[in-house]
Amino acid sequence: MTIAEDRGTVANYIPELAKIEVGQFALAVALPSGEVFSAGASDVPFSIQSISKVFTLAIALGRLGDQLWSRVGREPSGLAFNSILQLEQENGIPRNPFVNAGALVVTDAILSGHKPREVLGDLLRFIRAAAEDEDIHINEIVARSEQATSHRNIALAEFMAAMGNMRNPTALTIGTYVHQCAVEMTTAQLARAGRFLLGAAGCPRLVSPARVRRINALMMMCGHYDGSGEFAYRVGLPGKSGVGGGILAIAPGKASIAVWSPGLNAQGNSKLGTEAIEALTKATGWSVFG
Ligand code: GLN
Repeated sequence: MTIAEDRGTVANYIPELAKIEVGQFALAVALPSGEVFSAGASDVPFSIQSISKVFTLAIALGRLGDQLWSRVGREPSGLAFNSILQLEQENGIPRNPFVNAGALVVTDAILSGHKPREVLGDLLRFIRAAAEDEDIHINEIVARSEQATSHRNIALAEFMAAMGNMRNPTALTIGTYVHQCAVEMTTAQLARAGRFLLGAAGCPRLVSPARVRRINALMMMCGHYDGSGEFAYRVGLPGKSGVGGGILAIAPGKASIAVWSPGLNAQGNSKLGTEAIEALTKATGWSVFG
């Protein structure tokens, strides 16, 4: 296949992310054993942004179980990650936990009874345990940069509060959310962290096998927003993207794949990253569709 010359555009609505050099690229593949194969700038940390939603969802399901589904759905949205359109028609219940509105509900759910600092501590503990690496942190400058420009997410949270689907002051939920999105990881760390979703011997077991299957199903259907169908068609793996240009993809039982290239396509998903994972799954035959 040919790799497109056009690398896409970096996220420009978060000022700190707008400064990132578009030409960067890294790919890492972690096997169930934890052995990592990598290429490119796989030791450069990047902002995981919405990939953090996979980890907060795992934590929320661990705490609330199926009760979470009374507040957020499990259907693809077919709309942009930050769209507000469906929320009014659907009474403040977001379509899924990976669009921003849904992720705000998940963060709000794990915030109840805890301070933001405790929730972020739990999140870092979860990610570090998954990656078996303590050197994973939140970039405070990126968090503040997003916080200062969070008008859309504040609008989503306030609308859901008006519909009775927020339990905590929206400022606390937004503050926690921008910090979870500002977790920084290298592709090597992210690939290792994704192993808890492989359902294979040797991987950190942080959630039950039944929950692993469900999180993977949600990633397949909703992990790339209105680009989820295209990602399933081209790559054939559950995946989750972030506007920092990262993608985590899971080849169940086989490998956890992380890719990073900050240029985004029209749906806000890494352009070169998608092409690289597509090329990798084509070469390895790792599609879940046979
Ligand atoms: N922090 C980003 C936002 O809320 C995350 C979006 C994304 O990565 N798709 O806009």
